[in-house]
Amino acid sequence: MKVICIGRNYAKHAKEMNAEIPTTPMFFMKPDIAVLRPETPFFYPSFSKDIHFECELVVKIDRVGKNIAEKFAHKYYSEIGLGIDFTARDLQQQCKSKGHPWEIAKSFEGSAPISKDFIPKEELNLDNLSFSLKQNGTVVQEGNTSDMIFRIDQLIAYVSQFMTLKKGDLIYTGTPEGVGPIAIGDELVGAIGDREMFNVKVK
Ligand code: MG
Repeated sequence: MKVICIGRNYAKHAKEMNAEIPTTPMFFMKPDIAVLRPETPFFYPSFSKDIHFECELVVKIDRVGKNIAEKFAHKYYSEIGLGIDFTARDLQQQCKSKGHPWEIAKSFEGSAPISKDFIPKEELNLDNLSFSLKQNGTVVQEGNTSDMIFRIDQLIAYVSQFMTLKKGDLIYTGTPEGVGPIAIGDELVGAIGDREMFNVKVK
């Protein structure tokens, strides 16, 4: 399986990163070993001193497809989960300044915590779906799909032009504003609406 992550899909997050608002979706990949299984702690890696959380809704692909038209994209997923796109911001800034690829900042082992449960999309209003992240009990990120620059179906149509999507692939759909650093000892709790989706402890 592959993990596809959308960058800058919320205007206020693009702004906080001093980045331009994209006119087409942008994405990058994480390898399968980036996925941090539910109820597993995240071990702060020694290669970074500035790991940031980015809480994101996650779409699980459940059907093979290529060149999927936007109007049919809804047929390729049936469940929504929640995850974190951990980012080594210090390494990312170094990569950006040198014009290098981002992989070391984004694709490291355990950098993609994922919820244990996924919610059937019929139970959700995908046009107005709120989600949040708490860090040690304080809400640090609140997002809503209505603020997405590119909606889920547009993302699927776009990405599937470049690569076949397969059953089990995950699409991290981008983070809202409020990203920030984590520290050893942190507890990160993500929720879709009022429903707790994950609890990640940083060790
Ligand atoms: Mg992200």
